[in-house]
Amino acid sequence: MAESRKDSTRRKWLETLREYRRDFEAPGSEEYWSPSLDCASRDELRSIQDAKLAVLTPFLYENSDFYRRRFDGFGLTPDDIKCVDDLAKWPPLDKKEMVEDLMANPPWGTYTTHDDALWEARGWSLFATSGTTGLPRVFRYSKFDLEQWQWANARALWSLGARRGEIVFLVVGFGPHVWAWGVNYALAHMGVPCISGGGMTAEMRCNIIERYRPTILATLPSQLLRLGRVMQELGKDPAKSSITTLFTGGEPAAGIASTRERLQEMWGAKLVEFYGCTEAAPHSGGYSCPAAVRPDGTIQTHLMEDFQVWELIDPDTLASVPEGSRGITVCTNMNSESSSQLRFIVGDYTVLDSAKCECGRTHVRAIGGFSGRADDLINLRGMKFYPSVIEEGVRAVPGIGDEYEVVLATNEDGIDTMIVRVEHAEHEKPGSVAEKVANAVQTRIEVRCDVEVLAPDSFPKTEFKAKRIRDERDKGGS
Ligand SMILES: [Zn+2]
Repeated sequence: MAESRKDSTRRKWLETLREYRRDFEAPGSEEYWSPSLDCASRDELRSIQDAKLAVLTPFLYENSDFYRRRFDGFGLTPDDIKCVDDLAKWPPLDKKEMVEDLMANPPWGTYTTHDDALWEARGWSLFATSGTTGLPRVFRYSKFDLEQWQWANARALWSLGARRGEIVFLVVGFGPHVWAWGVNYALAHMGVPCISGGGMTAEMRCNIIERYRPTILATLPSQLLRLGRVMQELGKDPAKSSITTLFTGGEPAAGIASTRERLQEMWGAKLVEFYGCTEAAPHSGGYSCPAAVRPDGTIQTHLMEDFQVWELIDPDTLASVPEGSRGITVCTNMNSESSSQLRFIVGDYTVLDSAKCECGRTHVRAIGGFSGRADDLINLRGMKFYPSVIEEGVRAVPGIGDEYEVVLATNEDGIDTMIVRVEHAEHEKPGSVAEKVANAVQTRIEVRCDVEVLAPDSFPKTEFKAKRIRDERDKGGS
């Protein structure tokens, strides 16, 4: 029987990805896991992207009803999008479209090329988005995806300094959270030992650090703060522990200067991170540049360009933003059997630079890292800002606890207000603390806020992604 178009397009896409897989089993050099890719010329990177994109669009068209509808709806065919330059024809894809597809086609949606037959033949795992907006987007992944994740994450982890001789302590709940699982499998692939810190108290986790002396602490930023505090309460100094690298993912940390400094100082360790999102870059879409974590280095994140095409757009007009200007991230992912995407709006603000990096890598850099999702944008009386900016202000004031909350409300005159609630030892005479926090926030967003100073430990400790904004305004969110 002749091979169906569904199968032949999948086969060609898989073959092309395997063709460009280099140094899969072991690193190609001491400095770079895949030297010929990590340091490829910009022209070579572009030709790899073009080759992958040419087989991706027919694959998506034949295997995803969502993509077929979108192609047909815009009057496009896979032949119209064969290279990176053609991508401009494809209007960027918002996650809301995926949510609508999922609601109309439960439980998997049709935005994925993964179907029941594949799930049965070579399924690997299921992961879902953890964000707070909309129905969680769910993805079934294949064994091929597992291999690509292991390899991509190994390259990124190598850049962060994960080597034989290091011991990673991975402190997460191990829910369907892509970052932790992807890291776990990549470390196993690399032969770097990993201790699981799931399902235990902070005290037990601190004891593990004391007894087994891991060197890389991998967890969410809020958990890094929490573990450090608990260790201090136990009379130990985290800065004197075995930990030399703090490795995070899942929420911004390295790009928020005061959070980064607080963590690095507390632990006497360097902070590095992965960047990505479940929908389009389930493995590392980006990773901290080793040159950037040197003293006085500018924080920057390399984006993995042989797997993905990264660009920035204006969030209001959706027009492309030239290199060097600020915009929100859009990812074309060519590296997943389940979640390949054309121009998916990831939505974090940054600035891109494709000049060759001091570390020798050629993949484009997000200068300053990332500081928050555009859909988390707060609009208060016409002033727009990100929760991360408030965090930056709160954390800049000495003595403020790690947990805080921002409450948006409407007062009796119908005016929207913002109250920042923080913890501080001086809560019984809050005057000067409140003033300092209000000033630190105002200098950053030009909005005067009220500050409520609570006793230390008033807030529950964050165990997973922190939810810090409570919007109780009459007309709802921004
Ligand atoms: Zn670099």
